[in-house]
Parts: sequence; structure tokens; C-alpha cells
Amino acid sequence: MTKNLSPETVAAQAGGAMDEETGGIVPPLHVTTTFLRDPDNQYRRGYSYGRADNATVRQVENVMTQLEGGAVSLVLASGMAAATTAFLALGRPAHVVAPNVMYWGLRKWLLEDAPGLGIEATFVDASDTAAIRAAVRPGRTSLVWVETPANPLWTITDIEEAARIAHDAGALLAVDATVPTPVLMNPLALGADIVMHSATKYLNGHSDVVAGALVFARKDAHFERAVRTRGTLGAILGPFEAALLLRGLRTLHVRVRHQCASALAIARHFARHPRVEAVLYPGLETHPGHAIAARQMRGGFGGMLSVRVKGGESAAIATAANVKLWKRATSLGGIESLVEHRASIEGPGTPCPPDLLRLSVGLESTDDLIGDLEQAIGAG
Ligand SMILES: *Cc1c(COP(=O)(O)O)cnc(C)c1O
Repeated sequence: MTKNLSPETVAAQAGGAMDEETGGIVPPLHVTTTFLRDPDNQYRRGYSYGRADNATVRQVENVMTQLEGGAVSLVLASGMAAATTAFLALGRPAHVVAPNVMYWGLRKWLLEDAPGLGIEATFVDASDTAAIRAAVRPGRTSLVWVETPANPLWTITDIEEAARIAHDAGALLAVDATVPTPVLMNPLALGADIVMHSATKYLNGHSDVVAGALVFARKDAHFERAVRTRGTLGAILGPFEAALLLRGLRTLHVRVRHQCASALAIARHFARHPRVEAVLYPGLETHPGHAIAARQMRGGFGGMLSVRVKGGESAAIATAANVKLWKRATSLGGIESLVEHRASIEGPGTPCPPDLLRLSVGLESTDDLIGDLEQAIGAG
């Protein structure tokens, strides 16, 4: 019965999870930290202790595995817990290739913390697959990491080509697909080995849970080491958050589709605006990654865009200061629209231009959002 169901059906019905005991159509929240042993000392039901595994977390994992078309998933306490677990599960010493333009917190970890843990990263312009090919060391590189569309310039990486390059070198390809979500893109179907999500963003979608996920194409040795890493670091998601995340996932498809349509309308509107230097959005034909994005994404280009304001950093900060409806805050993928002067949070060394405002489009009326940004940019 659950074979060949559409992803929106899987998400809407939480992968079919229900309460077997009462017939409740919402599955129960499993808060227990410990589980009964069988009298002969076995754990046949598959659970022993809450740091290793939890039934509510497993329900989310089941949905994620189906949405991404993977073999198995791990849900973790944050997107950063998921990403760092994928790296920490590599054999050491490890050489990895990562993009110049990527989620800044992970870039900072790769630059400042990973070398001491035996993980050496080479950073490249990942919109140029020739640069990825030049950076991999055949037989030595164990992981190529890409993010597409990538924060905060929404640069696009060709996943099929990146997978070929990684595999030719004997490496795995991991894709941070937080921004496209499984609604718009399935990296495993394009050849990737691992998909990572900050579930804090669109998957939960309501700005009230911090969580992360890894979906694996195979139940292989890298997956088994990731299980061990999550268990020993205690990086599993708590059951209460997992229950909220499972609820958020049920509306993922309608939210993302609305956010895509709204983001495209906002991008088109401000691309012609006299006080705007440029709009960065892969859905615009002028975006350098548009053709690849159109090929590897479906149904939209995401709810994230950036606007470069004429007049530089001060004009950008003044515009953000003038919004009334958009909220000045970091993060993305929630119901409420957010605006952020991104260079301020990324700090020195960021590839983010100082005149850039990052926009996360929520579920408000598109006209209201355009109107508020119009008055803010006009007043700036
Ligand atoms: C937010 C984010 C992360 C980190 O996730 P957390 O849940 O904040 O730990 C990683 N990648 C991308 C693209 C993100 O937006």
C-alpha cells in the first residue's frame, strides 16, 4: 500500500505512522529514555537507550528516507550536528572538497576545527565543476561537499557532474539540500551519496525546532560510522522536537510551493527596481546557474533570494531597518518572511557582498511583502 505513493502523500500522512494501540491517527510521542530487555537478555524490539535511538525520531527518519528516495536516514539535534556527523564519520586522515560559497557555520568549522580532527578541506568555486575536478585527489579525497542553491548568493552546482567527479576519484558526494528541500530536488536520484538538511528550516517550517537530517543512498560503512558518531556524541534529536518536526513535515509541499511562487514574483518585481543593483535568484533567466537549476530542480527554484541594494552597505542596512512586515532575523524557511544583512552575521572573510540583503519568503500575501519592501527600499 505504501509503495509508489506520491511524496506529498507520504509527507501529509507522516509516512503512515499512527497509534496502533488506540487507533489515534496522530502517532504517539515516545518520551522514554530506556527500554525493557527481553528475559533472555536480548533487545529484540530494536531499542535499548534514548541516546542511540527513539521511536518518534524513527518516524521522522522513515518520512525523510521516502521523500529523498534513500536507503536509510538519521535525524539529529541540528543541521550542524548532521553536517559535522557526515564529516566525522569519514576515515582519517581525510581530504574533502567544499565550496567557497556555503553555509557559513559549516565553512567556519571546516576552516577552524576540522583540521585538528584530521579533516583537511580544499575550498573551490563549486559552480565551476572543472574547479571541483582540479581539487579532488584521486584515491585520497574521501568526500566532496556541495550546497545548491548555496547561501547567500544562490549559486548552483551541477550535482550529476559533481557526482561523476567524486566517484571517479573514489570519493562520496554529499549535498546540503536545505534550501531546495525534497519537494524541489532529490540529490540521490542525481547521483549523490548523502543528502543533508537543516530541518530547522523548511522541513519543520515554523521557526520553532532546531533539527537536522542525513539521508544515505546505501546502508554502508559510512552510514554505520555516522550512527556511532550520533550515538557517542549524543547528537540525536529529542522526542518532543521530533514530534513537532513530524507535524511540520505534513505541510511541507504546500508551504514550499507557495514560497517558490511568491519568491519568483518578488525576484521579478525587484529585478527592475531603480534602487536595486541586482537580484540573485536561480529562477531568473539572468542567473548564471539558471539552466542547471531548471534541469535538476522541479516545480520551482526555492523560497530564498538576495537583493543587492544600490548605495552599498549603509543603504542595505537602512532598508532592513525600515521594514515593518518582514522580520529582521537570521534563519530561513519559516512561515514568516525574514530579511537579513548577511555580511553582518558572516563576519570578516565572507564572500557575501556588503550591499546584500538575504530574503526568506514566508507564507504572507506576496503583494503585502512587495509593498513593505518597496516602502523600505524607497525610504532607504
Ligand atoms: C541553517 C543551515 C545549516 C545549519 O543548520 P542548523 O539547523 O542551524 O544547525 C546548514 N546549511 C544550511 C544551508 C542552512 O541554511
